[in-house]
Amino acid sequence: MNSFPIEDFQGVSTPFYYYDVALLRRTLAELCARSPRGSVVHYALKANSNRALLRVIAAYGLGADCVSGGEIALAVESGFAPGKIVYSGVGKTDREINMALSVGIGCFNVESVAELGVIDALAADAGVIAPVAIRVNPHIDAHTHHYITTGLSENKFGVDISQIPDVVEYVMRLSHVRLRGVHFHIGSQIVSMQPYETLCATINKLQDDLESRDVKMDYINVGGGLGVDYEDPDRHAIPDFASYFDTFSLRLKMREGQILHFEPGRSIVCQCGTLIARVLYVKEGLNKSFVIVDAGMTDLMRPALYQAKHKIENITSRGPERVYDVVGPICETSDSFGSAIMLNEAQRGDLIAIRSAGAYGESMASRYNSRDLPGVLLSE
Ligand SMILES: *Cc1c(COP(=O)(O)O)cnc(C)c1O
Repeated sequence: MNSFPIEDFQGVSTPFYYYDVALLRRTLAELCARSPRGSVVHYALKANSNRALLRVIAAYGLGADCVSGGEIALAVESGFAPGKIVYSGVGKTDREINMALSVGIGCFNVESVAELGVIDALAADAGVIAPVAIRVNPHIDAHTHHYITTGLSENKFGVDISQIPDVVEYVMRLSHVRLRGVHFHIGSQIVSMQPYETLCATINKLQDDLESRDVKMDYINVGGGLGVDYEDPDRHAIPDFASYFDTFSLRLKMREGQILHFEPGRSIVCQCGTLIARVLYVKEGLNKSFVIVDAGMTDLMRPALYQAKHKIENITSRGPERVYDVVGPICETSDSFGSAIMLNEAQRGDLIAIRSAGAYGESMASRYNSRDLPGVLLSE
């Protein structure tokens, strides 16, 4: 059972990403309806920076969360308001900082004291004042894969929460940066609200502490990370934005005049994207059967990089179900989309749908093995 427009797929060369733009619009409408009044939602471009999708997202009035100069340029070209662009990343180059200053972005999410000094100097050269927030590492375990958890003390992101009062004092002495507030991003594919509840408590405590030192902030950015259902994308096509936003509305003690900022990426684009591949060969091994498809880790890296599991369907065959390992053609053992997968009986030429591939799919594609990048087909 699937609802893919298979007729439209005939003649399109595989592999390609198919994006259901109507689902993206429904997701954005739900997100906008559920986000707290007065808050600003910045779409994290690194999840998917396909230009057609960016234009759709920008049209809903979202801001952008960028992690490179290239993403800032793309965000501006795609219609995101420069004042609603925020810029994160531990290794911003001088060139990228200058570009962000000339575009007039809304806020630099600064990750170190060294970076603050460089932004201050470059802003002075440009004769402008740079708006900054300090990215705080709050030591919160997001209970997600260790490669996508970002808020633990041993990883490279942000300034340790114990150092924040000192760093804030340092910022106040700089002449060409204006401290707007604090930024957090504790990880990705977070499916329980508990880490976010802990984050709220941490922010409340930090705010009390900074307030007692007479620090005024107008910007509280809680980052992204809301997870999606990779196992059952049809049942949960739109993530539970209500629980997510309500957690912050209920638990965060916002001060007068403060604006709450969010940076979701995956939860906006994941379920609208599917990687469509074609079966090249069915290979009967000694103990298992392999379905070898023409898509590989160069098209969708998540299984190889994060041991991620995506739902896989044979959308051509109506044959009885059989158990297969679904693998790609790349010369790496990690180039596998899943083992012991139940698929309708496969044969050469069948189309295979790898679901929930809209986030960190196309944007991570590479040309390893001198392969072509995957194609793209939009539903409209
Ligand atoms: C990647 C990233 C996001 C988006 O994360 P998702 O899990 O895709 O929602 C938000 N903020 C920052 C700083 C990021 O690096």
